[in-house]
Amino acid sequence: MEDTATNWSNSDENYVETCIFCLIANKKDENTKIIKETKDLVCFSDIFPCAPHHYLVIPRQHIFSCLSLHKGHIDLVERMAKLGKDVLHDQGITDMTDIRVGFHQPPFISVGHLHLHVLAPASQISKYMLYKFTPETKYFVTKNEEEKCVEILLPLYWMCVCLFVMILKNKQFFK
Ligand SMILES: [Zn+2]
Ligand SMILES: [Zn+2]
Repeated sequence: MEDTATNWSNSDENYVETCIFCLIANKKDENTKIIKETKDLVCFSDIFPCAPHHYLVIPRQHIFSCLSLHKGHIDLVERMAKLGKDVLHDQGITDMTDIRVGFHQPPFISVGHLHLHVLAPASQISKYMLYKFTPETKYFVTKNEEEKCVEILLPLYWMCVCLFVMILKNKQFFK
């Protein structure tokens, strides 16, 4: 196995080879351009943008969204939101009241690696996709309510975890 030491790469235990977001975070996906990064976070464009600006912020560490969100992650979530807003700012967005920042709840997630959606202008979110990004619905939990989010998500997460564990076991993820 190749062992390319990128400056901020993960320790092996937090890296899941088959996870596309782990690949992106470790700069092993050539198709994805990282827009901004910090020591433990990475921001890139959503592959299916639903607004003129649509970015994802992920932790480098493979936080299996389902498993790990608890109150200890509030600081991480705050920093994810800040990075997303910094990127919007870099991209020339000035009206921070017309943005949308949040998580999809399981089972409405596309990738099992914690990711924060950052969209702007919120008023221009594609109307066909709007249902997916409507705050405090079963589809989308905004980061402003992260405490509540944790409470709502945990039971759902565990449900989802069971499912994923079954799937992962089949794929021989666990050695
Ligand atoms: Zn991952
Ligand atoms: Zn998502």
